[in-house]
Amino acid sequence: VIPQTPLGAGREFDLIRELCRRWGELCSGIGDDAAVLTPPPGEQLVLTTDSSVEGRHFRRDWLTPREIGYRAAAAAISDVAAMAASPLGMLLALSIPAEWLRDLAALADGIGDAARLTGTPIVGGDVSSGSELVINVTVVGSARKPLGRGGVQPGQALYVTGRLGGPDAALRAWLGDSEPAADARARFAHPVPRLAEARWLATRGATAMIDVSDGLLGDAGHLAAASDLRIAIELGDLLIMAGVSPEQAARSGEEYELIAAAPPTLDMAAFTRETGVPISRIGKVIAGPPGVDVTLRGERVASAGGFSHF
Ligand SMILES: [Mg+2]
Repeated sequence: VIPQTPLGAGREFDLIRELCRRWGELCSGIGDDAAVLTPPPGEQLVLTTDSSVEGRHFRRDWLTPREIGYRAAAAAISDVAAMAASPLGMLLALSIPAEWLRDLAALADGIGDAARLTGTPIVGGDVSSGSELVINVTVVGSARKPLGRGGVQPGQALYVTGRLGGPDAALRAWLGDSEPAADARARFAHPVPRLAEARWLATRGATAMIDVSDGLLGDAGHLAAASDLRIAIELGDLLIMAGVSPEQAARSGEEYELIAAAPPTLDMAAFTRETGVPISRIGKVIAGPPGVDVTLRGERVASAGGFSHF
């Protein structure tokens, strides 16, 4: 932990002082013009930034302020996990409307929850007023050998961590004006960045990885496109939440689980034993132009040469 540089007087600095008080030892090295981080010897820096905007990424009537803060930080940290990297620190840029000021402490506690869970100190940031709540989280991490999306190799299998479908089920419930089931709601409100899981996979032959943010099929499409390979996915092999269909689970976004390309002989029982997280082998690299073929119990359900999100 880097000692704090004392802050001067002023409303903005009072806010930052209040935030740091709530974060305690998680607030590290704040108070200079910029943060200073030292990656471990021989490691490369991995950087990502992610914005959560009220009304676009979350709705205040669905989640508590603490959950909104947690989720924004966890989503950004998940992108560092997807590179098989370890977080060194995060920077927060908050745009806070007046009506959010009384919930700022709870929001900060949620960000602190994600920082504590993942061992990511909060090393700097910026607070301003705004017309809607925006939580921008930049995470700096490092890895000896970061894994990108373009490393899928012929002969590999495709794996997914966790059970999919919870976030989609929660959203469908909220949009239908009902309360989601507790487990589905928890998967939406409290995604866990798969940091240790990603490192486990990277040390056992995984060569490409992505976290599920757009949905399994969309993100598998990103792997196929980046690697210039064709992937066949069998949805019947996917681990899914109770009460969710394989198609719904495959569409479900903001899961923050990992899709990894690794040898077909991966010891899945050891993965679950050592991480506590289930894993399924859902597909393989096949011959053909870049894209994804999808079957459900052998029946073709979709074929795509790539996905557009616009
Ligand atoms: Mg991602």
